[in-house]
Amino acid sequence: MKEKILILEDEIGIRSFVSINLKREGYDVIEAGTGQEAIEKMNSESDISLALLDVMLPDISGIEVCKYIRQNFDQIGIIMLTAKAQEDDKIEGFISGADDYIIKPFSIKELLFRVSALLRRIKKDTNNSSNSKITSPPFLLDLDKRKLFKNSQEIELTPTEFSIVKYLMTNAKQSLSRDQILDEVWGTNYLYDFKIVDVNIRRIRNKIEDDPSKPKYIQTVWGYGYCFRKEE
Ligand code: CA
Repeated sequence: MKEKILILEDEIGIRSFVSINLKREGYDVIEAGTGQEAIEKMNSESDISLALLDVMLPDISGIEVCKYIRQNFDQIGIIMLTAKAQEDDKIEGFISGADDYIIKPFSIKELLFRVSALLRRIKKDTNNSSNSKITSPPFLLDLDKRKLFKNSQEIELTPTEFSIVKYLMTNAKQSLSRDQILDEVWGTNYLYDFKIVDVNIRRIRNKIEDDPSKPKYIQTVWGYGYCFRKEE
């Protein structure tokens, strides 16, 4: 079955160019020119796998659309298309709900690579029928059902968050560098920025830590990466 991708971009030239190239790669493409239109299409098209969201739009911003998708469709991959030369803190805002981001102007080759890498990640984890579980009280990670539980309560994770948690829990007590996390989860480290790792970790901490400002389970290894602390 063809993977369905939503492209939200108000500049018709860019939108058509991306759309044509995605179709040529064998994807089904749904186009939207405004945030409102994107939200409507998310609801009317049931099986969208991935959304490419421009940030600067005439109506509601791509960030709002990203938040809406995250709240309503947990399993969809999101890549933000951000303008060039944004300040760091702004970029963090843009990508706070996303799996990845790409800075304009981008090469179509790079965009296609990132799309296929994200789709692979979503599928890899969905098709994983290892039928195994990782227990680390108070957590239980069900690899088969792709679910994380804390004290038997399910914690909703995006595909990217799930992949990170799985990698950290599988390698509990080991310090994993941001490069290693990028390689494992995003498929390569050379195209990506550490920031995408950090924002995802922050998001996971908000979901799993008792006090996200004093993380107990996912600890920062300064200047290096992260470590999942297993309680004895
Ligand atoms: Ca725009």
